Amino acid sequence: MARESELAKKAFQKEILSNGIFRDGSLHTFEKKINTYREFPLRPNTLEVLQINLGYMCNQVCAHCHVDAGPDRKEIMTRETMEQCLEVATKSKVRTVDLTGGAPEMNPDFRWMVERLYAIGVEEIIVRSNLTIILAHRKYHDLPQFFAKHKVHVVSSLPFYQKEKTDKQRGSGVFAKSIEALQMLNAAGYGHSGSGLVLDLVYNPSGAFLPGDQIALEHDFKAALKEDFKIDFNNLFVITNMPISRFLDYLLASDNYEDYMYTLVDAFNPAAVASVMCKNTISVGWNGGLYDCDFNQMLEMPLASPVRHIAEFDETKLQERNIMISQHCYGCAAGAGSSCQGTVA
Ligand code: SF4
Ligand code: SF4
Repeated sequence: MARESELAKKAFQKEILSNGIFRDGSLHTFEKKINTYREFPLRPNTLEVLQINLGYMCNQVCAHCHVDAGPDRKEIMTRETMEQCLEVATKSKVRTVDLTGGAPEMNPDFRWMVERLYAIGVEEIIVRSNLTIILAHRKYHDLPQFFAKHKVHVVSSLPFYQKEKTDKQRGSGVFAKSIEALQMLNAAGYGHSGSGLVLDLVYNPSGAFLPGDQIALEHDFKAALKEDFKIDFNNLFVITNMPISRFLDYLLASDNYEDYMYTLVDAFNPAAVASVMCKNTISVGWNGGLYDCDFNQMLEMPLASPVRHIAEFDETKLQERNIMISQHCYGCAAGAGSSCQGTVA
């Protein structure tokens, strides 16, 4: 957006994903592909997760960010919209509230929101923290203790256990700060078995290829982080880069777009389709708009339902919708599948 790239327009991204190799029949559209397996239309199961995007502002500007987040983004959820989310969390049967962004901690009402979620007894509160926010300003230094007090499940991106790959993807100096933040989380009790304080890490590939095996990568991450920095964490979630936003920009600029889409389509796994995260999740945008997932939110593909805002939330009506899909959905169904909780198949 800051570069005034045409790709900042969601319609342009959707046009790219619908035309070319998908329009001329070289590759099946996602709709056609899942129809072969009688999975079209894609339908939701029971709603379990409310993923709330508290705003697009972030202290980082990562190369692959699907949000196009950064310090200059002004979109931020108001307390009024948070109150509507809290009402839904109280009345519905959602098990998990997953706070994301941008850097969700930068929303001025972030702590208030976590305190309220904790007070109403939400079973699991996830915060997707980029780690470096903890060191970005002294007002964030006590976040590990705040998270621990409210039993927050912390999920943090760390593209690799070495400096070069991490800094290349997330910015110079990010690796060192991430390590320091992880040590602070460990000191607050996170990542140690038996503490009940869960710290998970997220890996995504550094280029236009599919991620490796989740179990093997978790083993490598655990061994390296322990050996080099005495860091403990619980699980590693391996996710596939989605061909949207900044990663789509990278694919086009590096002339990798078509090859990457062929890679995703070739790796299509029908078993993963049954467990894609839109089946049990609703994504809430910073302004209260509802989406099937955070990716659809970024592509401005609203729900195919009369219920389109958190203020109108109606679980029964929402269950009747068909999930909105496009070719980016291949990213969720390739190989072992991909979701905010890692592989799915
Ligand atoms: S930390 Fe996350 S939200 Fe922020 S720019 Fe990086 S990927 Fe995007
Ligand atoms: S991109 Fe979103 S809508 Fe498409 S399969 Fe993945 S979670 Fe579902």
